Amino acid sequence: MRRAVVAANWKMHGSRTMVREYLSGLRGHALEHDRVQLVLCPPMVYLPALGGGLEPSLQAGLGAQDCSSESDDGAYTGEVSARMLADMGCKYVIVGHSERRERCYEDDARVAAKFLAAQSAGLTPILCVGETAEERDAGRAEQAVSRQFEAVIERAGAAGFHAALLAYEPVWAIGTGRSATPEIAQSMHALLRAALARRDAQTASKLRILYGGSVKTGNAASLFSQAEIDGALVGGASLVPEDLLAIAAAAAAGTD
Ligand code: PEP
Repeated sequence: MRRAVVAANWKMHGSRTMVREYLSGLRGHALEHDRVQLVLCPPMVYLPALGGGLEPSLQAGLGAQDCSSESDDGAYTGEVSARMLADMGCKYVIVGHSERRERCYEDDARVAAKFLAAQSAGLTPILCVGETAEERDAGRAEQAVSRQFEAVIERAGAAGFHAALLAYEPVWAIGTGRSATPEIAQSMHALLRAALARRDAQTASKLRILYGGSVKTGNAASLFSQAEIDGALVGGASLVPEDLLAIAAAAAAGTD
């Protein structure tokens, strides 16, 4: 059994009021901790307020949405290092989200450098890979995600995925309301796991592969019924704590 992970990506949403309301929405709720881990990734400025207000009984991990590819302190205006995130109580960091690949021109090499920087600071990277609509329409979806994944395996080695999470996030499904079908997600996850298994079968069998792209309360259970889907990276629906908790409960129920 692989313990599911449900990670909330707030993207650039939030305010101090939202953090207060969110915390009260989470209050008093418990999850089946042996079956699902909750991870909350608000914008960096809200990490202390959110992290400081979480009830220990929820056992939620704190994560950031990005980190610098530089590990050492230095003249990198605007950057936040993985070490600083760990210092602020983070345990996870998303790297290679498609919005950063696309809008911030992060290439595979930069994403791999961030993955390594995260791990050397003791954080668990959540590596995102996913194809665009054009790549899928041209029959190049498998090739695109394999390229993104291999670029990190080359630098980190297969063993680097002992302490990492992978998220398959088709770009055409993010924020569109058009989730991948459970069958598409299952087959892409299987492809990614097989790529790692060719190098290290044991690490591959333990790797948690999350699906991301318009996961909602209404489609979560059918996605989690697939053997290769070990949880979700949730954007829009994670802004409502009740919805996030319902998705996490569905992930716990879908764990075999
Ligand atoms: C995301 O931001 O990673 C994401 C999957 O967003 P959404 O759930 O809104 O599609």
